[in-house]
Amino acid sequence: MRTMECEYCDILSGKSKTQLIYEDDAVVVAAKDMAYTPGQITVFPRKHFTILEQVPDEVVSQCMIAAGKASQAVFEVFQAEGTNILIQNGLGAGQKVPHFAIEIVPRREGDKLNLQWQPKEISPDDLDITAHQLSEEVAKLGNFTAPKKKEEAKEKKKEEIVEKEKGENYLSKSLKRIP
Ligand SMILES: [Zn+2]
Repeated sequence: MRTMECEYCDILSGKSKTQLIYEDDAVVVAAKDMAYTPGQITVFPRKHFTILEQVPDEVVSQCMIAAGKASQAVFEVFQAEGTNILIQNGLGAGQKVPHFAIEIVPRREGDKLNLQWQPKEISPDDLDITAHQLSEEVAKLGNFTAPKKKEEAKEKKKEEIVEKEKGENYLSKSLKRIP
């Protein structure tokens, strides 16, 4: 599966020295020697995948869970006031190592790190076109989450709303009865 030099695979094979913070069968968390802010750590799958689109759903999920836990540790240890959780997906997005990874960057107010890209306003026509093109593409991809669970969740939500409305009606009727 591995076709080129990969810094993260080298870490796992012991070729490259990095401080490992956590590892299990699926994910690895390592401290970076190159960091946007001190305390930055990287979460990556043990298996080599280059970009997000290649990573199996289950592994994506494991990586996101690990990123959440790792971020929690960063909050505690560095008294961070926030974390940026970054995925540089592909060369055009600044990805440096050809192995899918999630960066956890500890943040504090006034840390002078400028990750604030300024959004520009999109014209309503362009927004329409964008949404239309993406909707068509997305329709080809099928359900984003497990369809059965989604339906179940919808049904449950409906039931909850009905129950809530019933409850409210009952409550408002009951209140009217109070003199
Ligand atoms: Zn790799």
